[in-house]
Amino acid sequence: MSRLSALLLCLIVAICITLSSAKDLYKTLEISRNATDDEIKKSFRKLSKKYHPDLNHGDKAAKDKYVEISEANEILSNPEKRQIYDMDGYEAVTNPNHNNAQMDPFAAMFGAGRPAGRPKGPNAMVELQLTLEQLFNGHEVKFTINRNVICPTCRGSGSHDGHMHTCKKCNGKGQVMKLQQFAPGFQVQTQAQCDVCNGRGKVPANKCEVCHGHRITKQEKELTAVVERGMPPDHKIVFERESEQSPSTTPGDVIAVVKQLPHSRFKREGDDLHIDMVISLKEALLGFSKTILQLDGTQIPISQQVVTQPFEVLVLPGHGMPHHGIPSQRGKLFVRCVIQYPQQLSNEQKVAVTELFP
Ligand SMILES: [Zn+2]
Ligand SMILES: [Zn+2]
Repeated sequence: MSRLSALLLCLIVAICITLSSAKDLYKTLEISRNATDDEIKKSFRKLSKKYHPDLNHGDKAAKDKYVEISEANEILSNPEKRQIYDMDGYEAVTNPNHNNAQMDPFAAMFGAGRPAGRPKGPNAMVELQLTLEQLFNGHEVKFTINRNVICPTCRGSGSHDGHMHTCKKCNGKGQVMKLQQFAPGFQVQTQAQCDVCNGRGKVPANKCEVCHGHRITKQEKELTAVVERGMPPDHKIVFERESEQSPSTTPGDVIAVVKQLPHSRFKREGDDLHIDMVISLKEALLGFSKTILQLDGTQIPISQQVVTQPFEVLVLPGHGMPHHGIPSQRGKLFVRCVIQYPQQLSNEQKVAVTELFP
């Protein structure tokens, strides 16, 4: 290859890169930057009918256009890809490793590349204080979190209109060299993230009026935790990727942890329930037929025909907590009989007892 043709090739490649970086997928699909998923779908359907190769035999321009709208649709109809495109442009979504400017300086120093995908942000924990009744019957808890989200107005670009300039401070590298003094007379040049563009290498030409170019805003979000029947204490209900959003990370999860409040009558042990039942001395001696108020408001019949010993435990299978995941399966109910003795006996009673129990 002659030197001239090599030069020409370089020039063509450079032009192609410049052209591709200017690619506006929203214009391609003839929609606004705030288009909903439905609008994207509709517009793609309309345009693909117009440019489909089957309807435009041999028309090269139509075929090229069809390839273009298909690609734009593939990116914009995928929420994750659309987010990356909105924030960092076309190259970031088609070639995730293109922007070395964002590479971790330490990883670069030790020769390691950036790990595939964006790192996950921290999880947020919420405690749900639940009564035993709520855990027995199932419940829904609504709670509100206040979190940072990718600015919905500029879709995280920080720009009013999507136009970006190369950062003047770092010349688009995202990194600047800094002199750091470790000891008197001992200076080391280190690389640091550019504080003007925060490592992006570009700045919005016109800042978004909602987030003022910061790319994130505050948002209140209501979440509904579905507490299923029989959930055990410390069970975690996970809301995937509902935590803080940031341009550089995948959001962490919001984790709602089930906490069981103490109950005035029942104690829980796994799927089993324990309760104390007070019976009179007469009932202990002659037997009884009583009911116990269950956590769902129903009455469980319990009876004994024989003498009940002090603190004797009666077991009722199938009357404990519902088993989480299989609520038709229930634990046991353990009923401890607490005999209430009379405070004192009358003379007549004393005589009667002596006659009956010689
Ligand atoms: Zn910069
Ligand atoms: Zn914004």
